[in-house]
Amino acid sequence: MTAVDPSGPTRVVALDGPAGSGKSTVARETARALGWRFVDTGATYRAATLAVLRSGIDPADADAVTAIVRRASIALSTDPEQSWVTLDGEDVSMQIRTPEVTSAVSAVSAVPQVRRHLIDVQRTAMGQTGAVVEGRDIATVVAPRAAVKVYLDASPEERARRRAGETGGARSHENPEALQRAVQSALAQRDALDSQTNTLEASEGALHLDTTELSLSQVVHAVVRLAEEAGLTESRPLTWVRPPVPLEPAHAEPGPSASAARRRQATGRRRSWLVAASRPFGRVLFRSLFQVTVTGTEHVPLDGAVLLAGNHTGFLDGPLVYAFAPRSASFLAKSELFVGPLARALGWLGQIPVHRGQPDRAALAAGLAVLDRGEAMGVFPEGTRGAGTLQAFSDGLAYLALRSGAPVVPLAVIGTAEAMPKGHRLPRFRAPVQLAFGPALHVDVDGDPRARRTVRVAAEQIRVAMLAQLEAHLGPEERAARPDGTPAPAPLERDA
Ligand code: C5P
Repeated sequence: MTAVDPSGPTRVVALDGPAGSGKSTVARETARALGWRFVDTGATYRAATLAVLRSGIDPADADAVTAIVRRASIALSTDPEQSWVTLDGEDVSMQIRTPEVTSAVSAVSAVPQVRRHLIDVQRTAMGQTGAVVEGRDIATVVAPRAAVKVYLDASPEERARRRAGETGGARSHENPEALQRAVQSALAQRDALDSQTNTLEASEGALHLDTTELSLSQVVHAVVRLAEEAGLTESRPLTWVRPPVPLEPAHAEPGPSASAARRRQATGRRRSWLVAASRPFGRVLFRSLFQVTVTGTEHVPLDGAVLLAGNHTGFLDGPLVYAFAPRSASFLAKSELFVGPLARALGWLGQIPVHRGQPDRAALAAGLAVLDRGEAMGVFPEGTRGAGTLQAFSDGLAYLALRSGAPVVPLAVIGTAEAMPKGHRLPRFRAPVQLAFGPALHVDVDGDPRARRTVRVAAEQIRVAMLAQLEAHLGPEERAARPDGTPAPAPLERDA
């Protein structure tokens, strides 16, 4: 078999990463979204391993393994709607997922001649018209000229949970914790064996995406956006996306598809139930602690994408807006919050971790995904809590508004710094806090929405609208309490 191009084609999205990182599911969904081929390179190594096991030779005998694999005829479906693998004409899609194959595959894939042979099979499957290819060495060896390279990862616990199928396999297992531990140690062993062959290495140019706290659709949207930004595809409404669900095990154990569907629904219900319950709960809690005033909710459209843009002075800002906004919203929240059990709860509530102080492309892509689905997104563009005078103003909000076309509702958040002073553990009982939503702004700037200058101009439009909203609602006391006492902060310098 001859490869079309020895270094692989460029119309390729390369997705590498360890087992359980969600590569297969993400790759298949991305291929569907782009209308491209889907190539599961792991399936070729698994089919080769099955051939070796069936032949009865020792998988550690490299010469014998090479001879068997070269003789085997392996074919792979590249249709994301219908995956199958054949070995010498027989459909072995189920047989390649057995524990016997999984235990032997690392030994077979470690043989260099086997790798060379299968890379030809994989490159032929990719073709030239566009392929989403997942594996371990796609960005480094199989398609080094791929236009988009992503290294997907997740915490070892999360990868094991996905593999064990927390809500399916693990729950029905006598001892779910023992199952989780066993899966985690099997994964660690396979990672260790795979990394001995140097295959499991992130390519230098690859975007490292930690999917631990992300839902499937957030990751898929992020990857599709990267493909769009690389100029590989026209931007189009992503109507195909299903409701966000956490990533399913990459290769669910063979079983009735109904159980997978149920698992998905169950997870979905838990998530929407949590969102639905937590908002009224939050409102009751906050109303019992503080004197809460909420005005201008008529400015928030009840459907379609919208950005809620608030000034940030206190720890309570995010939770208050989450509870009292007229519709539920996802927020860009600082990644430092995503630790321990809180991380999972925030994930279930649809919150997106953002690394502050640096452009976080993955967080922005996940935010765009939320807006593409016609949902609400909350952003505090000051990033960190400040005096609430909008002097520090990150460009992420403007980027999201420009790219999505969503209206921006300026929101004045007043009194939260005093209601829960920094360094205090307890809130000030019955302190007044106010949320005032203002008329929506449609950002309107000529120019390439990705250009830095366009984004800065849009950011300034939004900042001025937010300042006006803040000015209209600050009382004399809050005005006087401002650090510099100025009635209205000066606009930021624009780029020359
Ligand atoms: O992705 P999956 O778990 O099906 O891969 C099975 C095995 O195939 C991996 O553990 C690894 O040993 C091998 N593999 C590889 N290079 C790839 C894809 C898979 O070595 N590109």
